[in-house]
Amino acid sequence: MITLDNLVLSYPDGARRLTALDHVSLTADSGELVGITGPSGSGKSSLLAVAATLATPDSGRVLIDGQEITGLGRDAAARVRREQLGIVFQQANLVPSLNALDQLLAVPTLGGGRRAGRAAKASAVELLEAVGLGAQAKLMPHQLSGGQRQRVNIARALVSSPSVLLVDEPTSALDSQARSAVIELIAELTASNGTSTLLVTHDLQHAHRFDRLVTLVDGAIVEPELAAV
Ligand code: ADP
Ligand code: MG
Repeated sequence: MITLDNLVLSYPDGARRLTALDHVSLTADSGELVGITGPSGSGKSSLLAVAATLATPDSGRVLIDGQEITGLGRDAAARVRREQLGIVFQQANLVPSLNALDQLLAVPTLGGGRRAGRAAKASAVELLEAVGLGAQAKLMPHQLSGGQRQRVNIARALVSSPSVLLVDEPTSALDSQARSAVIELIAELTASNGTSTLLVTHDLQHAHRFDRLVTLVDGAIVEPELAAV
C-alpha cells in the first residue's frame, strides 16, 4: 500500500516558485490500480517522482506499507527504489546489448548477469511469460516491437516483487492495439501480484480497468468527472 499524504512540491521559477503539487493526498491499496490523469503540466510526473523518492517534497509524506520513505538519505532511498518500488516510465530504456531475459537478470536484486543462478533465471523466465514474452526471451531490443519492449520494461520493474508499481504514460509511444494490451497487462499484474499501482495516463479509453481515477489540475486533485470515466 502506498499513501501520499498532503504533498506539496515546488520548483524554482525565476524569483518565485512554481507549485507543481498542491496538497495532494492519495492512497493505493494492495492490488489496487489508481489511474492519474490531467492536462499536460498538471503535475502527474512530479507526483510519481515524489512517490519514487526521486524528488523531495516541500512538505507532506509518502508511506509504503505504513513506513515513511520521504526524507531518507540517498542510500536508503536507493534501497527503497530497488526493493519496494517498480518504476516504469514512458520510454522502455532497455540496454541495447542485452536480450530480453538478460534485461531482467541485469537487475541487481535478481543479481548475477551471466553468473545468474538457476533460480534467478527461472523467475526471470516466469516474469517474461507473465508479460506474454515467453517466446521472445532471446531477442534483442531492436528485434522487439515498441509494445514488446514496454512489456520487457514492465517485467523488469517487477523483478524485485515490488509492493508499489509506479507507471508514467507507458503507452504514449505505442499504437492503439499495443496500448490496450499494455494497460490490460498492468491491470492484470496489479491484481495478481497485489501491487499498489499508480498509473499516469492520458488515455481514458481504458479507464474502466482502473479501480479509481483521479484528475490533477494545476497540481491539485479535482473532484472526479464522472462523465469522463
Ligand atoms: P505532467 O507530468 O502532468 O505533464 P509535470 O509534473 O511534468 O506535469 O510538471 C508540472 C509542472 O512543473 C509544470 O509546470 C512543469 O513545467 C513544472 N516542472 C516539472 N519538472 C520541473 C523541473 N525539474 N524544474 C522546474 N519545473 C518543472
Ligand atoms: Mg508527465
